[in-house]
Amino acid sequence: MSRLVVVSNRVAPIQEGKQSTGGLAVAVQDALSEVGGVWFGWSGETFTNGTARVHTETRGKVTYATMPLARRDYDAFYKGYANATLWPLFHYRMEFVEYQRAYVVGYRRVNEQFAGRLAPMLEPDDLIWVHDYHLIPLGRDLRMMGHRNRIGFFLHIPFPPPDLLTACSDHAFLVQSLCAYDVIGFQTENDVDNFLSYIRTVAGGTVGRNGRFEAYGEKSRACSFPIGIYPDQLAALSASTARAGQTRRLVKSLAGKDLIVGVDRLDYSKGLDRRFDAYETLLETAPGLRGHVTYMQIAPPSRTDVQGYREIRQILERKAGHINGRFAEFDWVPLRYLNKSFQREQLTGFFRMSRVGFVTPLRDGMNLVAKEYVACQDPEDPGCWCCRSSPAPPPSSTAR
Ligand code: UDP
Repeated sequence: MSRLVVVSNRVAPIQEGKQSTGGLAVAVQDALSEVGGVWFGWSGETFTNGTARVHTETRGKVTYATMPLARRDYDAFYKGYANATLWPLFHYRMEFVEYQRAYVVGYRRVNEQFAGRLAPMLEPDDLIWVHDYHLIPLGRDLRMMGHRNRIGFFLHIPFPPPDLLTACSDHAFLVQSLCAYDVIGFQTENDVDNFLSYIRTVAGGTVGRNGRFEAYGEKSRACSFPIGIYPDQLAALSASTARAGQTRRLVKSLAGKDLIVGVDRLDYSKGLDRRFDAYETLLETAPGLRGHVTYMQIAPPSRTDVQGYREIRQILERKAGHINGRFAEFDWVPLRYLNKSFQREQLTGFFRMSRVGFVTPLRDGMNLVAKEYVACQDPEDPGCWCCRSSPAPPPSSTAR
């Protein structure tokens, strides 16, 4: 069987006990620990002088190979093009898109560097699986270096319709780069349709059956492979963590109030500001709920050095203070807002004993928390799941 080589910008923490708080890290970790292989990516460190060395470490069936980024590459590639240009563009949030020529130059440079450092580690039979928007050109860079391996790409975030994508002057470069992969995976059929629509209408390519297409002299295939979870494992885990010390402490602290729980990276795509507004409206319009529900929002900070992320953090702090100031009583705080991350095991217990999972991203590739919440429920007494298009949660007496 071919060896699996996964390439992603960030590699899950190698140290035991350190949690991965992103869907990509969680999903790749699950997949790799099953079949084994190599996981190559950025170490999360930066340097100002010298050159980047690849550090390898093997744990169980997985070899982790990581390299640091030069500070200027971190600024242009990671903070700039990946997170201030592509992320908002691909999430349909044009108002957050920042574009500088230096960003795309840094983006290309880092992808070439990754390809150059990965190349000596590759064997002809390796199956290479590149992940996400940071590394769109990597496959083409490897091809240009002569690698004929099977290379697949998976996009964890949405793919925008052509009208939005073409607002970015690099649209042809991005799509041409994608066409160099043997298979391009998307989260949803809608993302596949958006991509193939670009192939037909902008690239002038042809689209056949089952996502097969030809464009820019390449033949490839675009399909949806929605990321999933292991529901049975999570169900078993949540049954035991529901009895664990931390979950018991949480239940005790609630003093009989029903818990609404939200778990999202602190990201403007998650719609947290509107969720806080919705909760305020709920307390305003259903006074009977006051003193009977507690909403706990876990929101680990992410990309704290990107401007849009600093802004959303300030907005949420203000709104959380406002809601608690307006409704809190001496024996009840309506909103617990936690800017920290938790181990996934701990979350499973919290999910199981809460009455409502509150998941309302404005746009998301695939929301793992939504799936995890459902998998963690006690089948005899499940909570309910409130997503963007569903009605407001019912009063606590009927919430079950
Ligand atoms: N997560 C975690 N600890 C936290 C917050 C999140 O382990 O404090 C996990 C969560 O259980 C889920 C993943 O991180 O598995 C987040 O994935 P999701 O698709 O919901 O969002 P993303 O962060 O990828 O946009």
